[in-house]
Amino acid sequence: MSEKKAGFSTTCVHAGVAPDATHQAIMTPIFQTSTYVQDAPGQAKTYDYARAGNPTRTALEQSLAALEGARHGISYASGLAAVQAVVQILEPGSHVLVCDDVYGGSGRLFRRLFAKYGIEFDFVDMTQPESVIAGYLKANTRLLWVESPTNPLLKIIDIAQLARLTRPRGIPLVVDNTFASPAFQSPLALGADIVMHSVTKYIGGHSDVVGGCLMLNDDALHEQLRFVQFAGGAVNAPMDCFFLLRSIKTLALRMERHQHNALALARALESMEAFEQVIYPGLESHPQHALAAQQMSGFSGMISVRIKGGFEVASRFMQSLELFALAESLGGVESLVNHPETMTHASVPPALREQLGISGDLIRFSVGIEDVEDLIADVEQALARTLD
Ligand SMILES: *Cc1c(COP(=O)(O)O)cnc(C)c1O
Repeated sequence: MSEKKAGFSTTCVHAGVAPDATHQAIMTPIFQTSTYVQDAPGQAKTYDYARAGNPTRTALEQSLAALEGARHGISYASGLAAVQAVVQILEPGSHVLVCDDVYGGSGRLFRRLFAKYGIEFDFVDMTQPESVIAGYLKANTRLLWVESPTNPLLKIIDIAQLARLTRPRGIPLVVDNTFASPAFQSPLALGADIVMHSVTKYIGGHSDVVGGCLMLNDDALHEQLRFVQFAGGAVNAPMDCFFLLRSIKTLALRMERHQHNALALARALESMEAFEQVIYPGLESHPQHALAAQQMSGFSGMISVRIKGGFEVASRFMQSLELFALAESLGGVESLVNHPETMTHASVPPALREQLGISGDLIRFSVGIEDVEDLIADVEQALARTLD
């Protein structure tokens, strides 16, 4: 069966995996090995050493590639290891344009680690692609790094429009697709060159594995990135590969429920007096709702709100929630709540945080797959206790 033509749910269940060659086990075996026996010196079969390759990881990489309709998938020990790999293919003296409210950890990696290797980063608002190119592109710009929807403000960046501007200039466009997941957004089809995911989030989906990946079509870029993976060694353990293969089978189902719950919760939040603003790309009130509807096939499960009363009220509210766990991360089956200013985005320079609007009153929800009535009831009881 051609995997490219299959629907997304079918791809999730079948892509990259085939019954094992030895015993026809339907699930991919966990090859918990560091090395492989050779027939004669220097005559390895497919695998020689597990940093270079492992059959469980190969199956995962094929499955990940299929999720984004890509020729190549490369799997890493974390999302940030995947980010790091992309920057490591650049030469010192390169310049990178990054969207301004990029994931805090990616920004920290760029500012605090790579800046000292002579790579220059500018963080700019990319919601107006033409002004990014006109205003910030330099002769040595070698990469554009974009997230959409962004974290935590859920701004939407027009990927197709950016790609139309970067392609003719030969500047690779990388899209961190973690928030949308492959279920709802296909950046490669929109013209991007590399897709990145923190598979710790929706792809893993059960808050039990840290991992990352890149998906792409270009063979030359793939060779360069494969070398970084092999030479640097930020690979996943075989057991984690297995967990991820298992998770991917239910990705389509989970994402439908995440977005169903998020839309219902966002509407309920909008009707509550306590919130100044509810930010969800699926709401008509989102300033870029039309663009979101055009470039995404669903709006995913992340909601941000501004609560009236600032940090004090936000803090009491978050501690009063019972179903929503107060924790970093997102995309798992259980609902989480996060305070970006003091948690996920604490490493963003305060001036930039203020300029972006990541303030004390901002709360981010990762909506899980529970019954949405229970989630709404939890918000109501927490508000009642907070405002008491
Ligand atoms: C979590 C996250 C990352 C980093 O991934 P890790 O798996 O934590 O290393 C990168 N981008 C986004 C959007 C994320 O949410």
